[in-house]
Amino acid sequence: MNDPQRMHKHDAATVALREKIFQYTRERMEMDPPLDRSATYKELRAIMPDTVTEAGIGGDTALDLFTEILAPACMSIDFPGQVSFIPTAPSEASILFDLVVSASSVFGGSWLEGAGAVYAENEVLTFLAREAGMPTGAGGVFVQGGTVGNLSALVAARQEAMRKREEAGLSRPVRWRVAASEEAHSSVAHAARVMDIDVIKIPVGADGRLYGQVIEETLAGDWDGIFAIVATGGTTNFGIVDDIASVVEVGRAHDVWVHVDGAYGVAAMLAPSTKKHFAGLGDVDSFIVDPHKWLYAPFDACALIYRNPAIGRAAHTQHASYLDVLTDTTEWNPSDFAVHLSRRARGLPLWFSMATHGVTAYRDAIESNNQLAQRIAQVIRESDHLELVRDPMLSVVVFRRKGWTQEQYVAWGDKMFDEQIAACFSSKYRDEPVFRFAIVNPLTTFEILMDLVERLKES
Ligand SMILES: *Cc1c(COP(=O)(O)O)cnc(C)c1O
Repeated sequence: MNDPQRMHKHDAATVALREKIFQYTRERMEMDPPLDRSATYKELRAIMPDTVTEAGIGGDTALDLFTEILAPACMSIDFPGQVSFIPTAPSEASILFDLVVSASSVFGGSWLEGAGAVYAENEVLTFLAREAGMPTGAGGVFVQGGTVGNLSALVAARQEAMRKREEAGLSRPVRWRVAASEEAHSSVAHAARVMDIDVIKIPVGADGRLYGQVIEETLAGDWDGIFAIVATGGTTNFGIVDDIASVVEVGRAHDVWVHVDGAYGVAAMLAPSTKKHFAGLGDVDSFIVDPHKWLYAPFDACALIYRNPAIGRAAHTQHASYLDVLTDTTEWNPSDFAVHLSRRARGLPLWFSMATHGVTAYRDAIESNNQLAQRIAQVIRESDHLELVRDPMLSVVVFRRKGWTQEQYVAWGDKMFDEQIAACFSSKYRDEPVFRFAIVNPLTTFEILMDLVERLKES
């Protein structure tokens, strides 16, 4: 057997590799990222040698394969002309600190092991809760993403509903159910599948928003088993924020948990022009917002916040003899608030960047995204070849190219991608093709979008 410690030693080879990795990281951070493209499995298989072997291929070779073959087969989601998917455009400070988190071996699941990191993460969670208008004491945890955040919140909501029913001497309902708008994100339906519960779809108004009154009308007095209402704080498709205040009113009237899925949009509560859309957010029972979407942090992080964290803790604390040293405490254990145990202190990159730049820098960046959306929407309104599908509420602009068939939409999107000009694929709304500008990257400029508007004139 060779030296079993050889992977963990600071020998000359490791030091050289470290420098090479730092060099690569530096270059990636300094360059204007190429859009790059995807690749099929076959294409990669044809050019990639076997890499996971008994003897290893060596760090130099592995890094070369990554830089020359693998990385170019990954789309740069921070490319300024990437407006199809909600971009991730991490701030420089947040990227740098992600490296620090990686190098630090912090267990972010418990206070005992990660007190300092958890303290800093909680500073951010407290700030977000306060900004939303929640009372002191609100808090939660950074989880992997919005999907896990929504699931964890709904599990807590059901647990609380169960507790209340037991307390009232009631048995379980025939089916547990949640009410959500028909525009709710797919992760809500997925959480329902995982939990084996039903989603009652509530129609939205002509403006795309969910209203409390419509929930009342749709359920028509049949609230048995309904334990939560999910409102969306910025739909992924259109950036539409539901009427949270009226949803809260209905939730209160029926003693039902209100959760706001704000994975993409709740960040806009920080910006002056869009703050007003989030009236009522301070009164909900839980909400989520993804730093990797519109808070300029790297993948992957979702802030999950409970108005009353004790309910989250009651639902999620794992019990085992080897964990008692961690859970028999009143300290803040992040693992107690969601469906997870071991965790990366994934809120630290956002904390560091916020601490570095101040909240105002965030407000300014988000506001600039909003303003760009309004500005390009106006251009589209006034153009002859395009048609706005609806006025943007946040920073997603959806529009049609007049006179184009579905095939032309697809062909144009593919062409822009093939030519590495933009990722602006055709999307669908009510079975009709549309284009979408999802603007959350401060480096996405008016000029970039104008160029696309001009190119859409070509037939
Ligand atoms: C993106 C998104 C999600 C899912 O979040 P992930 O972090 O991708 O799991 C949920 N809800 C909404 C509204 C979203 O935009």
